Amino acid sequence: MSFTDRWFDPSKPPKAAIAIAIHMFAEVPLGWQKLFYETLNALVAVRTADRAFSLNYLAVEFENHQLEFDMPDPDRVLAGICRRCAQRSKSICQKCGRRGRLRMFNMTDAAVLCPRCAAPELLHRAIDDALTYPGLIAVAGRVESPQRVPEVLRGAFMRATEAGAMDARQFRKWLDELKRLKRMLPPVSVPNEADA
Ligand SMILES: [Zn+2]
Repeated sequence: MSFTDRWFDPSKPPKAAIAIAIHMFAEVPLGWQKLFYETLNALVAVRTADRAFSLNYLAVEFENHQLEFDMPDPDRVLAGICRRCAQRSKSICQKCGRRGRLRMFNMTDAAVLCPRCAAPELLHRAIDDALTYPGLIAVAGRVESPQRVPEVLRGAFMRATEAGAMDARQFRKWLDELKRLKRMLPPVSVPNEADA
C-alpha cells in the first residue's frame, strides 16, 4: 500500500496527518468537533503499517445521533478508540459542545443537545403544533386550565393570563403572540441531520 499523502502514513508528522484527515472529514457537527480532533489524534498516535488498511477505509458518520468512526477489521486498540468516541458523543451537545443528551422531538427527529440548544427546538415545535392544532389546547376555542398547554409554553401562557384560563378572543390573541415569538427564535436545525 502506498502511503503518499495519506494521513495514516506512520512517517508523517502527527500535525500534518491530522491536517489532511480534517480535510477528508470536514462535515462533523460543531459541538462534536473537539471530540473529533481528539479521536483523530488518538488514531494518529497509534498509526502502524499493520493498521493502514483499517485506517484507509475510515468513515466518520453521525447520522445515528452519535459520532461514529467506522473502519473495516479494526484491532482491539482501534476498536477501543472508536467505541470511546461514540460513547462520549452521546453526552456532548452536537451544536455547542456542552453536556447534552439524546432528545427525541418526534418519531423521526432526534439530536444530542444541551438544555440551552434544545429549548428553541422544543419551542418551535410546540408553537407549530399550537398553531396547526389549536384544538389540542382549547376546547370550543376556550382554554379552561393550563393543563392542556404544552409544558414548554406553559410559562408564557401563565404570563399572558392571570386567571390560568382564556376565552376564545384571548386565546386567538395569544396564538398571534406565539406566531410573533416564533419569528424571533433561531431557525430549527434538528429535522435535517445533514444541516445540523
Ligand atoms: Zn448545546
